[in-house]
Amino acid sequence: MFTVLFSIILVFTNNQFTNKTENIMQFELIKLPYAPEGLEPVISKQTIEFHHGKHLQTYVNNLNNLVVGTPFEQAALETIVKEAEGALFNNAGQILNHNLYFTQFSPKGGGHPTGKLAAAIDAEWGSFEQFRAAFEAAGAGLFGSGWVWLAKDSEGKLSITKESNAGNPVTKGLTPLLGFDVWEHAYYLDYQNRRADHLKELWKIVDWEAVGKRY
Ligand code: MN
Repeated sequence: MFTVLFSIILVFTNNQFTNKTENIMQFELIKLPYAPEGLEPVISKQTIEFHHGKHLQTYVNNLNNLVVGTPFEQAALETIVKEAEGALFNNAGQILNHNLYFTQFSPKGGGHPTGKLAAAIDAEWGSFEQFRAAFEAAGAGLFGSGWVWLAKDSEGKLSITKESNAGNPVTKGLTPLLGFDVWEHAYYLDYQNRRADHLKELWKIVDWEAVGKRY
């Protein structure tokens, strides 16, 4: 009886540590909480399909390949973003960024934040309108590819951070609450060069309930 049990444990333990296929599939493409056409006309079905199904899928595939044989093989996504550099950081950062991005929108989005988050925004910028203007200006003024984030520190104080390329406020010890993607792949099919117009439209689909939960 003991021998059988011991063998079972051995086989199980062995599989856990030697089965590489499990490691290769460590990171998965998140499912969208809406249909690909659900955010139209702010973001077209075509843009969502490319952005989620091609760009994000590529980051996921890249990271699954890159982590093999590194100290990050069993690491959580956020740990890789905080500690890794180079291609590992870039692909992990973009997965974290897009996971936050795609889950902060809703076909029933728009309106304004409520509760504690609304109070914190008012405390920092005076009003939701002034916060929006500052956020749009940060996104429009970011040179090249990157992200504009609303983030909070450990005391709940809010700030807007501009991050180039795969950057995320977690690398500064902050918690990301809302992120607008200003890589051209996020808007070029629908808005071409008009990044500022795209940013202005995005407020119509922000799911403030989802963002509020992050605060
Ligand atoms: Mn993107």
